[in-house]
Amino acid sequence: MLPKVQTPVKKIEDYREYISRKQYEEIKKKAERLKGLKVNMVNSTPRGGGVAEILKSLVPLMKGIGLKANWYTIPAREDFFKITKEMHNALQGKMYDFPFSARKRYIQHMARTATMMKDMEADVWVVHDPQPAGVIQYLPHFHPSVCRLHIDLSSPNQDVWEFVAGFLEMYDRVVVSSKEFVRPEVEKEAVVFPPAIDPLMSKNQPMDEKYCLEVAKSLGIDIKKPLVTQVSRFDPWKDPLGVVKAYKLAKKEIPNLQLAMAGLFLAQDDPEGLKVYKKVKAEVGNDPDAFLFSDPNVLGGLKVDTFVNALQVASDVVLQKSVKEGFGLTVTEAMWKGKAVIGGKAGGIKMQIKDGENGFVAATPEETAQKIVKLIRNPDMARRIGRRAKESVKKNFLMPRLLNDYLDLFEYLTAHHANNKRSNGSQEVMEMFSPYKK
Ligand code: UDP
Repeated sequence: MLPKVQTPVKKIEDYREYISRKQYEEIKKKAERLKGLKVNMVNSTPRGGGVAEILKSLVPLMKGIGLKANWYTIPAREDFFKITKEMHNALQGKMYDFPFSARKRYIQHMARTATMMKDMEADVWVVHDPQPAGVIQYLPHFHPSVCRLHIDLSSPNQDVWEFVAGFLEMYDRVVVSSKEFVRPEVEKEAVVFPPAIDPLMSKNQPMDEKYCLEVAKSLGIDIKKPLVTQVSRFDPWKDPLGVVKAYKLAKKEIPNLQLAMAGLFLAQDDPEGLKVYKKVKAEVGNDPDAFLFSDPNVLGGLKVDTFVNALQVASDVVLQKSVKEGFGLTVTEAMWKGKAVIGGKAGGIKMQIKDGENGFVAATPEETAQKIVKLIRNPDMARRIGRRAKESVKKNFLMPRLLNDYLDLFEYLTAHHANNKRSNGSQEVMEMFSPYKK
C-alpha cells in the first residue's frame, strides 16, 4: 500500500455563505447518489505546491459529504524527482533531451510503485500530474481512472509529451485547467475545469490587518513603506529574476519600495529550488529593502499559512510574474484577500485576471514595473480592482465549485464504466456531464 496522508473531515454546510442555494442543493443531491463511493487520490507530495494545497481541502470535503475519499502519495526518491522535475519543465516548454536512462528510471519507479498498489481498491482513481501517472501501465484494475494535470500544457516539448501521452491515453478521463491545455493526443479523454481555493483554510480566512502588519514587522519589513510581494516556489517558471528586475525598475520611481519573495522549501518533489534561490539572492545583493524567505525555520512559531496570509494582506501589490502557469493558486489567494494582483501573461493567470478589471496582466518586467508604480500611486484604484478580484474568486474559484465538478465527473464515470458495480447508464448523468466535455 502507498503511504497515506491523514486528513480530517470537513462539512459542506460550513461553506453555505460561499455558495448559492442552487449549487448547495446540487452538491447534496449528487452526494446522496454517490454515497460511499471509494475515491483514491494519488499525488507525489503531502506538502508544498498547489496540488497538496487542493487535496488538503478537497479530500476532507469529499469525506464530509459521504464519499470514502483517501489521499496517498507515491514513494519519494530524490533521483526520480529530479527526472520528473525535468519532465515537468519540458512539458511546460523547456528544451530537454530526454535520455533513455531517464525514461527507464521513470518506468522502473512506476513499476515499483504499482507493486505497492496492486492490492489497493477504489471505485474511482484520481492521479495528479505526471509524477505518478505512469503507474496505470501496470495496473489492469485501475479503472475508472482520472489523470488530473495541473501544468501549463500550452506548448510542451513534443518528445516528453509523447512519452507521457502514451500512458495518459490509458486513463478514462484527463482533466486540465484550461481549454488551451487540451492536446490532440488526449482530446477524446479531455475534461476542463479549473482548481479552487478553500476560503475556510487559515491561509484564506480574513485576518486582522493590524495583526498582519505586526507579522510583517516581525519579519523585518518596514510597514510604513510600500511593499510588493510574490509568494511562489523558487522556480524559473515563476520568473523570480523577472520579479527582482521589475522591483528594481519600480524602485527608481518609488525609492522606498520594498520587495518580499516567499518560496519556502516545502515540496519534496522540487529539487531545483535551492539553485534558483541562490541566483535570486545574488541578484538582490544586500538591498536592505528586499526580503527573501526560503527557510521554513526562520518562521519560528509562525505557521506557514499565517505567514502567507499575513504577507499577502500586508502587501500593497501582489505579483505572480509566471511565464508558464497551470493555474496559480497564489493569484487566487491574493485576489480573495482583495489585493490588486499583477500576473504574467500565462495560461492559468489569464483565466483569472481580466487585465485592468480585476487585476493586471503584464508580459515583461518593464510592464510589470509600470503597473506596480501605477497601483502604488493610486491606492483607490488598487482597492477598486481588489474588490472586483474578490468577487470574481467568489463566483468562480472556491472549493465547493471544484467539489461539484468532481462529483459530476464521478457520476459520469461510475455510470459509464462497464465493470463498475454502480453503473446505471443514466441519461441524466450523461447530459449533466456534457458541458465539460470538449
Ligand atoms: N505556498 C506556500 N508557501 C510558500 C510558497 C507557496 O504555502 O512559501 C503555497 C501557496 O500559498 C499556494 C501553493 O503553495 O497555495 C502554490 O500553488 P500554485 O498553484 O500557485 O503554484 P505551484 O507551486 O503549484 O506551481
